[in-house]
Amino acid sequence: MAAMFRSIPQVFRGHQCAPVLLSARMFSKKADEKLTLADKVAVVTGSTKGIGFAIARRLAQDGAHVVISSRKQQNVDRAVAILKEEGLSVTGTVCHVGKAEDRQHLVATALEHSGGVDFLVCVAGVNPLVGSTLGASEQIWDKILDVNVKSPALLLSQLLPHMEKRGGSSVVLVSSAVAYVPVPKLGAYNTSKTALLGLCKSLAVELAPRGIRVNCIVPGVIKTDFGLGEKTLPNMWPELNKIYGLQRLGEPEDCAGIVSFLCSSDASYITGENITVAGFSPRL
Ligand code: NAP
Repeated sequence: MAAMFRSIPQVFRGHQCAPVLLSARMFSKKADEKLTLADKVAVVTGSTKGIGFAIARRLAQDGAHVVISSRKQQNVDRAVAILKEEGLSVTGTVCHVGKAEDRQHLVATALEHSGGVDFLVCVAGVNPLVGSTLGASEQIWDKILDVNVKSPALLLSQLLPHMEKRGGSSVVLVSSAVAYVPVPKLGAYNTSKTALLGLCKSLAVELAPRGIRVNCIVPGVIKTDFGLGEKTLPNMWPELNKIYGLQRLGEPEDCAGIVSFLCSSDASYITGENITVAGFSPRL
């Protein structure tokens, strides 16, 4: 924007005609501009509703071909139909990220489009328990850690050879503000989301020599079925909003632009970052 103003002759600045010239210029620039993610392929897990769907839509709007996925076929079909209706380039497949055969199938589906994958965005996450951390059964721990923490690493290990070949590839994980400020009774979930901050750092270091960047977004309270559902203690949120002075809860779209940016070449010197999207930052 600053560059646009610079390119307007000094005489026009601050005068009535400046906005007219500016918008005409913006229009002609847009018309022949290539979309930032054109010719790229993105895999987004947990992308049939909520945050994942908003991210998938935004990546596709910015030019990528997006592979939608989640556990239920009807959800995949609905999400794909909505985005195709909007003229976006998407395909979809069922993938429960905790199941090895589903992850394999997701990789195969993604490669069908153009033989490669540029971006992996791991959104799928679960919280099957509201209660004491130490009261969590081994089965509950396994489910939370399998889906929230292990699956991004396992899926990426399968995609890695394909992403590495493309050059400029990017991975985005989705943690939660509970990683920094634990919510009572969500101990196992809080712990899994803190683990993702570490996974982001470790993978960023490990994959930098292979040309793959890894970042993580850390959403606060986002208006989705999950975010406002019983299992995230919605009654606490008005209190938190009072403490932090927030004016609103987050929308899924609040998490989408930042992911598109992190995938884009504008972020080519950014890796290993955990970026809070919460209307405030609970980090020191
Ligand atoms: P949501 O609206 O309930 O959407 C969840 C999506 O994930 C759906 O598409 C669901 O579809 C899919 N899904 C659930 N379990 C899955 C699995 N095992 N494998 C693959 N897909 C699965 O939830 P959301 O609020 O967007 O949450 C998305 C992510 O953001 C989660 O990782 C969550 O921890 C994180 N997060 C959310 C908030 C918030 O306030 N909303 C805040 C911080 C972090 P199917 O039912 O068809 O599988």
